[in-house]
Amino acid sequence: MAGRNSRFVVSLPRERISLRFAGVYYFAAQLDALMSQKEINNRELSEYFASRVAYYAMPFQKWTSLHIFSSHFVDVTFAEDLSRALRIKYARRGECAKPWCQARPAHLLAVDLFAAHGFDSPLQHELADWVEPREGCCPPVDEATCPPIEDMWEEWVEDRQYWLFVEQIAEELFYLLFGNRSFLAKFHDRLADWMRLNNAHLASGELFRKDAGGQYVLRRVGPPEWVKRAVFFRDRGYCCSCNRDLNGDQSPLNRSQFDHIVPLALGGLNDVSNLQLLCKDCNNQKGGRTVPVGDVYERWYPIDRLPRDDPLRLV
Ligand SMILES: [Zn+2]
Ligand SMILES: [Zn+2]
Repeated sequence: MAGRNSRFVVSLPRERISLRFAGVYYFAAQLDALMSQKEINNRELSEYFASRVAYYAMPFQKWTSLHIFSSHFVDVTFAEDLSRALRIKYARRGECAKPWCQARPAHLLAVDLFAAHGFDSPLQHELADWVEPREGCCPPVDEATCPPIEDMWEEWVEDRQYWLFVEQIAEELFYLLFGNRSFLAKFHDRLADWMRLNNAHLASGELFRKDAGGQYVLRRVGPPEWVKRAVFFRDRGYCCSCNRDLNGDQSPLNRSQFDHIVPLALGGLNDVSNLQLLCKDCNNQKGGRTVPVGDVYERWYPIDRLPRDDPLRLV
């Protein structure tokens, strides 16, 4: 009996994720560019953040700070893309008697990616029709069958399918970016600023303590087992600073040091995406300072480049 809704991805065990990667590298690049700025001036993102500071302060959520920030970022990007499409459409208004018809914005990012991530909804088809009107849409149809895009969009972003879609992209982004410690360092540096700006300690005081300098910083929370496993296996059991191999230890998970990339003392979060693996010596040396994040990774396999005199070598 076909009890399963075939429109959805076949349900996977919780340790598996289906990766479509559609648009995900685009968002990763945009997010990286955003985090590379010293200050982020985006009103929508700031408002989202301000409304969720209490969540960011909570220790070791599986829906991490990177997931929640990414989902907001994707949502804001889709909305900005809609504005772009509208500008194009209105700029071409003269081409058609009905502003919602004929003048084609060429594409909507959200519509392009929705189906590619395995989603399907009637609202999405209506949006696609707006982008590329069906045969017979022009000459003019009445507004009932061709409603203003803003109304369709409003309805769509309140649809559960839309949020599942946004969260799917956020999860795929996490899959990519969790492996990039340089990105994570920038990301948590920005978050630390935003936590301070938003007086996060007022939202969830019990999670904070006042340090010697009168600053509110998050209390230290020991990472749970799933966090240790994730960080240890991402870093392949090597110290991110001196590359010492910690795999040989008798109980590596217990003996390894899980270091806050942005230290708690500097406003860092207790979050799996803010941790890296360090050996005891390196962690002790680091203390409460920020040191350059480990940018050395183990290759898939040891590489020998082509010899200097090989004719196939470019230079
Ligand atoms: Zn038309
Ligand atoms: Zn080390």
